[in-house]
Amino acid sequence: MGNEKKKIILTADRPTGRLHLGHYVGSLKRRVELQNSGEYDQIYIMVADDQALTDNADNPGKIRENIVNVVLDYLSVGIDPEKTTICVQSQLPALHALTFYYLNMVTTARLSRNPTVKAEIQMRGFADEGLPAGFFTYPVSQAADITAFDATVVPVGEDQLPMLEQTREIVEKFNRIYGNTLVLPEAMIPENETQRRLPGVDGKAKMSKSLGNCIYLSDSAKTVKQQVNGKMFTDPQHLKIEDPGHTEGNVVFTYLDAFCREEHFAKFLPDYANLDEMKDHYRRGGLGDGTCKKFLISILEETLSPIRESRAKWEKDIDAVYDIMAAGNEKAREVTGNTLARVEKAMRIDYFADRSVVKEWEELLKKQHQ
Ligand code: ATP
Ligand code: MG
Repeated sequence: MGNEKKKIILTADRPTGRLHLGHYVGSLKRRVELQNSGEYDQIYIMVADDQALTDNADNPGKIRENIVNVVLDYLSVGIDPEKTTICVQSQLPALHALTFYYLNMVTTARLSRNPTVKAEIQMRGFADEGLPAGFFTYPVSQAADITAFDATVVPVGEDQLPMLEQTREIVEKFNRIYGNTLVLPEAMIPENETQRRLPGVDGKAKMSKSLGNCIYLSDSAKTVKQQVNGKMFTDPQHLKIEDPGHTEGNVVFTYLDAFCREEHFAKFLPDYANLDEMKDHYRRGGLGDGTCKKFLISILEETLSPIRESRAKWEKDIDAVYDIMAAGNEKAREVTGNTLARVEKAMRIDYFADRSVVKEWEELLKKQHQ
């Protein structure tokens, strides 16, 4: 087997839009921390353009545009191309071959049970319009992505847990049939419950590019302010400042759950020592929504302003961004190609790796003539 003792990370994002705060708290922030921890042998981040095409086949221009947006977002949050290999899915043909073989490791019944895919089918209207087979099977292509890099750890948001489960089943089945070949990966999800699935600014279950309820990492300070002040609802019963308020189901407090740390109080709202004290006051009455929103905006800006500044620098050097991806693709092509060769060997379909099959076939023919 290939890399079983190494610690390897693979994550990916669909280039269907710029990256948003949900990506940041669900996965990106963790990736940067893990990258800088120095504890991992190899780290790969992939732009999943092929997967994005499974529900955007009629709009390849959108995917092409957003490849650069997603990579700019990576670089501006602190993904360092010296430590992390950034690559593009469509440029790695081994992934296509692996997907084709893994499709034989799953049943359509099993694929139909995937709760994330089920919800996405509903959301995209595929239940009425017809479901593209590529979209239906994308969890299999994700298994190819993860195993091609021999990933041991996959830091993701909660919606990805069913994909990791599917991957693990494919790995176990493949290894059972063809011998120990593939590495069994593990998901890593945020400890903070709100960060696992950040709701949209409209309070809907998930901030998602496809739902248009996002604060993007590249949004201007003005837009962030508008989104918080204009889109986030608080407690409809909290009309006057003195009224007692609810913090549950209150989008501003949900976001504070995800983003606020104790040090933010000393810095921006010294009336309280921590979020519990602030929530108590809101529940008792006497704390206005405007103060809460202003506090949230200050916290978000603390995260977003350095990202925005870094993006502005990278945007001036798209040639360098192109070179980073080209170099990443080259490295990733080698790594994934090696895994494909290992898989083909395990499946005994490596007929043309050397000429040893000639002897086998000759002996077979001799026997057939006896
Ligand atoms: P799309 O709507 O095109 O599916 P998306 O916004 O769901 O886009 P993905 O590219 O599918 O983004 O997800 C990339 C990564 O970000 C995954 O690990 C996913 O779990 C995580 N993620 C996406 N949205 C959120 C969110 N709202 N909260 C936490 N994690 C998220
Ligand atoms: Mg998604």
